[in-house]
Amino acid sequence: MASLSEPQPAKPHVLLIPYPALGHVNPFLKLAKALHMRGFHATFVHTEYNHGRLLRARGASAFDAGAEGLRFETIPDGLAPSGLDATQDIWALCEATRRTGPAAVRELVERLNRTDGVPPVRCVIADGSMGYVVHVAKEMGLPAYLFFTPSGCGFLAKLNFDQLVKRGYVPFKDESCFTNGYLDTPVDWIAGMLPSARLRDLPTFIRTMDPDDTMLTINIKQCELDSPAADGILLNTFDDLERRSLDAIRARLPNTFTVGPLGPEFSPPWYLPSLTSSLWKDDDRCVAWLDRFAGDQGTVVYVNFGSITVVTSEQMDEFAWGLAASGCPFLWVVRPDMVRGGWALPEGFASEVAGRGLTVPWCDQEAVLEHPATGGFLSHCGWNSTLESLRAGVPLLCWPFFSEQVTNCRYACDDWGIGLEMPHEVGVGRHQVEAAVRELMVGAEGTRGAAARSRAAAWKEKAKVAVAPGGSSHVNLDKFIQEIVRGKC
Ligand code: UDP
Repeated sequence: MASLSEPQPAKPHVLLIPYPALGHVNPFLKLAKALHMRGFHATFVHTEYNHGRLLRARGASAFDAGAEGLRFETIPDGLAPSGLDATQDIWALCEATRRTGPAAVRELVERLNRTDGVPPVRCVIADGSMGYVVHVAKEMGLPAYLFFTPSGCGFLAKLNFDQLVKRGYVPFKDESCFTNGYLDTPVDWIAGMLPSARLRDLPTFIRTMDPDDTMLTINIKQCELDSPAADGILLNTFDDLERRSLDAIRARLPNTFTVGPLGPEFSPPWYLPSLTSSLWKDDDRCVAWLDRFAGDQGTVVYVNFGSITVVTSEQMDEFAWGLAASGCPFLWVVRPDMVRGGWALPEGFASEVAGRGLTVPWCDQEAVLEHPATGGFLSHCGWNSTLESLRAGVPLLCWPFFSEQVTNCRYACDDWGIGLEMPHEVGVGRHQVEAAVRELMVGAEGTRGAAARSRAAAWKEKAKVAVAPGGSSHVNLDKFIQEIVRGKC
């Protein structure tokens, strides 16, 4: 295999179709860059809505890398135009893309194949959440791969949703199941899952009383029908991290490629640097602000709940006062659409934390996590955030919000040992925030905080090994590339 920096011979045209939410689009763009860098002709598909947002937030350079053989196309998302630049309702988006996606993808492939100077599409890589694309691709005679951007453990849990239904765990019988301890029911029969896993640790889409619940049925279909029909599965994780989950996944879907953590090893920062999928503009004060603490490595706690999480203003107040009371310096990302109806810092807060707190609307998260001053991450445990933290060696305070974030939290705390769980199902109080931040950031030897810091440092090294030449993810990316160049043997 040629080295990444050598010019690569022309390879087939790959169509990449992420689900239109940032946590999906980000890893897809990293994969697109990695494939393009290795000589592929790549077409990256945004929804019209996200394309417009990106253009407004980032300008034309977000798409125009001037790179031959890399193009951006759009398809509609099926939702009525909102006129607002804000996080879309993922339930509505899921239903709408399923309605309009198949025809839109078919038309796009046909159009690309008629375009002069563009080689015909030879392979489709679609988001695991858009499994219907596999069937469209097959009808058109194209190989199709599904890239599931969440964790392996989250994917494994979803692969067992059908069993949860068959065994009568789901749908929930009545309202009391949400509060009466039912969620503590063990699910130790799921092969490959943590033996201590309970219903509450499985992606929250099982928490429904409706047998026809959209997210439940979509997830079951993705696993039962779409995934086995795909030529292979891609996961943004690495074998050392999720070996048990991956063994169980591969027992059902043998052609599974783990290629994570997707990052600079496969598409370095100097390669097409202006290309981004981030729908908000980074606040460029962050790194300079962190530099002020560079002499005290690992002292800043970074707080960010991703691109979708919506919280109440009461909860934000508790975080604010908890951070203030912890005494630790903090960098806190408060997205403009994070609280319905808006939220302002509580009165007196700014003077209380003067000189040691910065709040910004958005940041370059990977740059913040890689900064030596950053020592802990209060996170919603979205998979990208979890993996970006792990690869930077930064331990987590876990405050999951929904979906497989609860599964990531359980694994971060109980399997990988890099996280401390915060109360999240009924909200968290300021004293709990204060205590958890202190424990993670300055907990003495023998505390859970000290253990999480040391485990995070160890996982950082293992992640590096996985993506280095000869490492499992590096080898898998090469194998995947060989397969799409030569076809499956
Ligand atoms: N992100 C970022 N800046 C921010 C917040 C988030 O760059 O201020 C990026 C982050 O690096 C990650 C993605 O947005 O790649 C969030 O994905 P994740 O899976 O963690 O959460 P989601 O947004 O899907 O809930």
